[in-house]
Amino acid sequence: MKEKKKLTTTSGRAYNEYEDSMTAGPRGPVLLQDYFLHEKLAHFNRERIPERIVHAKGTGALGKFTVEHDITKYTCAKLFSKVGNTCKMLARFSTVAGEKGSADTERDPRGFALKFYTEDGNWDLVGNNTPVFFIKDAKKFPDFIHTQKRDPKTNLKSPTMMWDFWSLNPESLHQVMILFSDRGTPDGFRGMNGYGSNTYSMINHSNERIWVKFHFKTLQGISTLTWPEAEIIKGKDPDHAQRDLVNAIANADFPKWALKIQVMTESQAKKFKWNPFDVTKIWPHADYPLIDVGTMELNEIPVNYFANVEQAAFAPANVVDGISFSPDKMLQGRILAYPDAHRYRLGANYEQLPVNRPITEVHNYNRDGFMTIDNNGGDSPNYHPNSFDNIETKVHYKEPPMHLDSNVADTYNRNEHDDDHYTQPGNLFRKVMNENERTNTIFNFVTSMKGITGEKRDEIIQRQLSHFFKADKDLAWRVGKGLDFKFKE
Ligand code: NDP
Repeated sequence: MKEKKKLTTTSGRAYNEYEDSMTAGPRGPVLLQDYFLHEKLAHFNRERIPERIVHAKGTGALGKFTVEHDITKYTCAKLFSKVGNTCKMLARFSTVAGEKGSADTERDPRGFALKFYTEDGNWDLVGNNTPVFFIKDAKKFPDFIHTQKRDPKTNLKSPTMMWDFWSLNPESLHQVMILFSDRGTPDGFRGMNGYGSNTYSMINHSNERIWVKFHFKTLQGISTLTWPEAEIIKGKDPDHAQRDLVNAIANADFPKWALKIQVMTESQAKKFKWNPFDVTKIWPHADYPLIDVGTMELNEIPVNYFANVEQAAFAPANVVDGISFSPDKMLQGRILAYPDAHRYRLGANYEQLPVNRPITEVHNYNRDGFMTIDNNGGDSPNYHPNSFDNIETKVHYKEPPMHLDSNVADTYNRNEHDDDHYTQPGNLFRKVMNENERTNTIFNFVTSMKGITGEKRDEIIQRQLSHFFKADKDLAWRVGKGLDFKFKE
């Protein structure tokens, strides 16, 4: 028989009494010297760390990415250097606005965050199950998220806040259209696509940059819920999507996604009708076809949720040589905001935690700080330049400069199509959705907009319907009719 392990204090001393407090006599009172008791209660009081302000409710799985097609003409990233290369990875799926215990079937985008542990350091692709986003400038993000959270007085979710914001920010229409289609309530995480959403770039061996969009297409097939189905599951099993993923992996039914990219040259970007760095727009497939790259398979639920999923920290700032950024304003904001959020939530040394630590060695001159858990650089110098260590600081790789077109990068010199918030959502409604999906989308809009209340109700509805009109007249009429809304002059 295996030798039993000893129960110990956190400092390693074997317990002599775990269950009963140490008392003066059998009836107490409890002695101050029972530090086992203090340790147990004190640690329990500190079990919670700050909840993620967005994407609090999430599920993670480990897996593997396999390169199946040659994309070396676009990128010199080592991960993609050879067909057949594989890489360990972590995925975390989540809802956005709800708290940690909220229901998985809420109408909300789903986070689709990936960490690739590559030979060149961690590459994080932190996207959603939608190819676009509600806003195109990170400056609006806190305002937007406030509208998805709780009313400051009632502490209730408020359709009035949501529709007020969306109707005042017409760039949200594309994402709102997707959110209120059946894809706004995926049936679990396995039956949804993932998108990098932002525009990134790739740099090849000749030091040429190309703009890139990342798409992860589910190989399980798209699987969605209608509004009524999602409502029922919300009550029956709020952890529906998490349970589905955990059970599938336990049954060795490993979910897979095909990674595909769209690429756009710098000269194509200059001629593109819309701003290619605007995250409220997609690049049409007919003009920018999907290029096959490889497959991601999730095959393991991490052994400890808190250590490996709650403490997982994904950041768009984590790119590797051969993959880089773009002038996408949302992306630029996210590069700053995500590591900042992790420093607040997990501390300055969050990348030393096992789940976040790269498989490569880390050498730099950052030192100390709360919870340093690696050897903190040992006895090597903590300053640069120095005469002692042998760390190579010569630049081994230098990105080409980003060529910017002032029409797309200059805030005050906007492209005439920058405010076209209507063509693409209109195409989605008319050309991509079938009649059943259109009917469900209208039902979902009407059901949600019926929740708009108060003195500004009519103003908000009228403003939103006018955006629907610009995208598709039939859509606007049908939503207006569903709301029994009379237009005012
Ligand atoms: P395509 O007909 O080539 O592609 C349509 C895309 O829409 C497919 O990727 C499909 O995903 C996806 N799709 C289908 N239903 C929905 C939905 N309810 N919500 C979100 N996506 C959906 O058309 P285009 O490339 O010309 O784009 C037309 C419109 O399709 C866009 O305006 C945009 O709204 C939407 N779209 C476009 C994407 C792109 O990158 N071009 C990506 C996703 C959506 P699947 O193949 O998995 O069924």
